[in-house]
Amino acid sequence: MQKNQIVELEITDLSYEAMGVAHYEGLTIFVNNALPGEIVKAKILKVKKRFAFAKIEKIIKESPDRVSVKLNQWVQTGLASLAHIKYDKQLEFKRNQVINLLHKAGLDQIKVDETLPSPEEIGYRNKAQVPVRTINGQLDIGFFRRHSHDLVPLTNFFTTDPEIDRVLVAVRDILRKYRVPAYDEIHNKGEVRYLDVRRSKASGDIMVILVCLHNDFPQLPKVAAEISKIDKVTSIILNHNPKKTNVILGRNDYVVWGENQILDKIGDIKFRISPKSFFQINSLQTTRLYNLAIKKADLKADDVVIDAYSGIGTIGLSVAKHVKVVRGMETISDAVKDANANAKLNGITNAQYVTGKAEEVMPRWAEEGLKTNVIFVDPPRKGLTPEFIDAAAKTKPEKIVYISCNPATQVRDLQLFMEKGYHFNEITPVDMFPQTPHVESVTVLERTEK
Ligand code: SAH
Repeated sequence: MQKNQIVELEITDLSYEAMGVAHYEGLTIFVNNALPGEIVKAKILKVKKRFAFAKIEKIIKESPDRVSVKLNQWVQTGLASLAHIKYDKQLEFKRNQVINLLHKAGLDQIKVDETLPSPEEIGYRNKAQVPVRTINGQLDIGFFRRHSHDLVPLTNFFTTDPEIDRVLVAVRDILRKYRVPAYDEIHNKGEVRYLDVRRSKASGDIMVILVCLHNDFPQLPKVAAEISKIDKVTSIILNHNPKKTNVILGRNDYVVWGENQILDKIGDIKFRISPKSFFQINSLQTTRLYNLAIKKADLKADDVVIDAYSGIGTIGLSVAKHVKVVRGMETISDAVKDANANAKLNGITNAQYVTGKAEEVMPRWAEEGLKTNVIFVDPPRKGLTPEFIDAAAKTKPEKIVYISCNPATQVRDLQLFMEKGYHFNEITPVDMFPQTPHVESVTVLERTEK
């Protein structure tokens, strides 16, 4: 097989990155944008020893699960790489991923619930971080083509709140008007690297963060004055990122105009969110995820609860009124400040947050003899560390509620907890990110010996 060869392929499966999978002359071929059940004419793009990548030239037999996508760019950029699949099939795809991972781990007896659908299938994101580059001599916004740093210009970001799209385009036009240079990645020159815009679902307030190479630039006062006139903008922040790096945000933030936070709500709890703090992207579905996790945890009034990887305390503060004490930890100190301020803001006096790595704070609390009934964990994609799992098991909680944005590391960690005297019977996939292959899942581990 060679590059540029045209082959007819029958798609039999969907990879976890949502590529169509076919087999041809002993090779596994990943076909961008193709669906199981389809027969396609495909052009080979790249050949490796055991597999190859291809793109569709023509669909010969189309899947009934295919829906037309208004903008090709959404799929090209990976912004919405499942957008060509009917929503109920997206939910099935996500559930199947969890089933497959459990099967590989020899855990076929675990019941996998239907994926909990998101109340909003598009426009659900409360935050957009979009790259700014020069395209055809002009500053533009958009998204990077998948596996590259080529900017594909866009004004409709599809999964993002349309109110955020409106502000992104308005800010783009203001930057153009004052001839502010876009960032030039190759020479680490220019000015605006990213626009990061967040909107509170509860109040409609909008924060605009200009991620810049320098901490000031000549046009900033005029640019800020115009941005401040955009309807609903309550905060303008300059984030200073001088480094040659793929990391979006730099270390320092400066309030250019307005507030240094926005306020949002999950359920009936208010949250103050600083520019650096993590906040769940899909606000409405987060409420449903937490309600599910709280119900599964079956909390009691005298429970002592740990909220690990707490962010701004969204989980712990949502459960505080049902239990005796909440303690939490998180690495980003601004988020911890937010968490403690959020407790106050909601009149919650039984919750307390500290800054630190979960894998270091947890063993300390275990040594201090903290008697914990329930631990909530909500780690980043890489999951938990063996040190954390060991210390969590040593505190002997009755239950560990594991919320995960990566079922692969979750299943790995669940197996480690099983070796330490915990078991679980079911797991619920939750769709926090419609139109993308991302899967969130939640399960409750219980101590086997009472
Ligand atoms: N539970 C929160 C945050 C979940 S995201 C919410 O639902 O909003 C995961 C959080 O873990 C992030 O805020 C991140 O800063 C934090 N984090 C990452 N590594 C960590 C570690 N080793 N110890 C503690 N917190 C960590």
